[in-house]
Amino acid sequence: AAPVRFESVTKMFGKDVVAVDNINLHVEAGKLVTLLGPSGCGKTTTLRMIAGLEMATSGKITIGDRDVTKLPATDRDVSMVFQSYALFPHMSVLENVMYGLTFSGFAKDEARSRALDGLELVGLKGFDGRLPSELSGGQQQRVAVARALVLEPQVLLFDEPLSNLDAKLRRQVREDIRAIQQDLGLTVVYVTHDQEEALAVSDEIVVMRNAAIAQIGTPRQLYDAPNDRFVADFIGEANLLACQIISVEGDMATIEIEGYRHTLSSRDMPQGPATVAIRPSRLVIGAEQGIAATVAKATYVGVRMEYTLTGAFGQVFAVHDDVDAPLEPGAEIR
Ligand code: ADP
Ligand code: MG
Repeated sequence: AAPVRFESVTKMFGKDVVAVDNINLHVEAGKLVTLLGPSGCGKTTTLRMIAGLEMATSGKITIGDRDVTKLPATDRDVSMVFQSYALFPHMSVLENVMYGLTFSGFAKDEARSRALDGLELVGLKGFDGRLPSELSGGQQQRVAVARALVLEPQVLLFDEPLSNLDAKLRRQVREDIRAIQQDLGLTVVYVTHDQEEALAVSDEIVVMRNAAIAQIGTPRQLYDAPNDRFVADFIGEANLLACQIISVEGDMATIEIEGYRHTLSSRDMPQGPATVAIRPSRLVIGAEQGIAATVAKATYVGVRMEYTLTGAFGQVFAVHDDVDAPLEPGAEIR
């Protein structure tokens, strides 16, 4: 496994489309780093530049200590797993996984034994004789993962690998991908537009917006300390409320919303008007003191209650685990 580095990398399509705008990025060896952002922000293009399927317009890309900026895809020692599994329909599962191995010069017996090991790794032992059409979507994607894994690439790339799977399978396959990545110590760059998936699998998340990087951090850093509204809103849900910063001492700030004061951790901020982002699970509901609110909506979703609360501040979304004694719509609370 090797690290990947981008230095001031830009990708233009034609003269007008800036798909990736001057990004700097460092993916440590053996880590899983996710590119997360809305559709069209440049995730796939970034991934394809690592693979060598697109060439950078300017800047430098290194894998390990090799400058690969100008190298063709076949010389980069990288494999990619796509959203559409791209299996050969007329070949057996085993032949699909062996394909890249024989192509890159392994003798048939060695390729076969590596492919069988790969299938075992993704939980498909005994499926080697089947055709792709005889497998479920989740199993087909596992074959695609095995096919990429057996090449033992320096870097493994995933482009929205779970998009074609239903919710339950998505969770299972993403956990499997993460477990294999950690067991084998693989360098993985993983693309998704799904924030929950990104939070679940990543060592580090790169949030992209409009061809640029909005913020890089661990899942917890991004969730607890987003740099701006876009990141706060994109990673998980956030209630964005207008407030006044009354005072700042060290890394604590006292804010005021509708006459209620509260002290919280903050980056260095000037006094005055600001926006505070509050996670739905961090709102304390039914406190003695606090901001007056009315329960506008109460929804039971099994593991928790979801509330919409309204007041002079506007509207907030809150979640609470009081499923056995929920608040009723209309309740006046703080
Ligand atoms: P994402 O994967 O985040 O959805 P992409 O990297 O696919 O975004 O695309 C980034 C931008 O580059 C988009 O505006 C897209 O339309 C444009 N783009 C991507 N590939 C091409 C291409 N081959 N030719 C022209 N424009 C492209
Ligand atoms: Mg894409």
